[in-house]
Amino acid sequence: MSHPTTDRRTLSLLKPTGHLTLGNYLGALRQMAAQQGDADCYYGIADLHALTVPHRPDDVRAYTAEMLRLCLAIGIEPERSTLFVQSHVSAHSELAYLLESTAHLGELNRMIQFKEKGRGRSDTRASLFTYPALMAADILLYRTSEVPVGEDQRQHVELTRDLAIRFNREYGEVFVVPEIVTPATGARVMDLQNPTAKMGKSATSTAGTVFLLDRPSVARRKVLRAVTDSDGDLRYDPMDKSGIANLLDVLSACTDGTGPADLAASFTSYGGLKEAVAEAIVATLEPVQKRFAEIEPGEVLEVARRGAQRAREAALPTLHAAQQAIGLR
Ligand code: AMP
Repeated sequence: MSHPTTDRRTLSLLKPTGHLTLGNYLGALRQMAAQQGDADCYYGIADLHALTVPHRPDDVRAYTAEMLRLCLAIGIEPERSTLFVQSHVSAHSELAYLLESTAHLGELNRMIQFKEKGRGRSDTRASLFTYPALMAADILLYRTSEVPVGEDQRQHVELTRDLAIRFNREYGEVFVVPEIVTPATGARVMDLQNPTAKMGKSATSTAGTVFLLDRPSVARRKVLRAVTDSDGDLRYDPMDKSGIANLLDVLSACTDGTGPADLAASFTSYGGLKEAVAEAIVATLEPVQKRFAEIEPGEVLEVARRGAQRAREAALPTLHAAQQAIGLR
């Protein structure tokens, strides 16, 4: 097993609430694969987090299996990284309770995601309120030194730091206080039908979302039907021409890295640009889909089993130290 010889340890989790999209790939997955070797990487499918909102049990299971397999298909190598399913490592739930017993009501009440998604509704699941403690457990269990997160998750990692510092102060030095790092910027991909909103795996309509496993003809059609504008002026202007800017951003991310403003100059029509984007997306998805098809379900199970074992070995010393410090062992 060739673990990288580095002190940097990083963790990223994917929540199994939908099919992974081109946005996930260009914005996160590709960087996750590239990072292997530079850091000791922990990559988890956060199935416990998928229970914080109404869900269908079979969907969570199916998305979890699909995401694991896609992680392998995009180049996450289980010999170099620890790839695991969160619920297979019970230390996550166990440490989460200790951190719920460290967090204050006021802190959890201030979480933007809770305010936006659940506060004030009587049928909001209690776990939506407490899940920042679970997320803190995810991070702290592995003595993670760096957490790459986008702006929407920043507040959660700040809370994780606060909880680690408070716990360490009250009960003794147990946790590594993680740094928040801005991930190497991947493209921010917008919805093809609504280019001012992020392309997301849980969008109500899928017409503007390219999924990693979309058949080439389907992906193509979605691109050719992308919303643009009516002035016909082909230039890169994210403020006033969000549809065209998004297509240029995607093209830039899927090809050799020529910037979107320079790419704009090489097209004379919106139709020509859409054709090129469709082709670039299909070429990007093709090798991923090919590898996905080659991976046997049994291989995925074995990867998850070994990943959980390795994750447990890394997590248990931290859990035990925390239990002892707080008065349990
Ligand atoms: P999510 O699907 O929102 O749970 O996000 C999983 C990861 O994919 C996070 O690192 C996101 O920042 C990234 N991601 C999700 N959607 C997009 C998008 N449309 N463009 C770029 N990155 C994205």
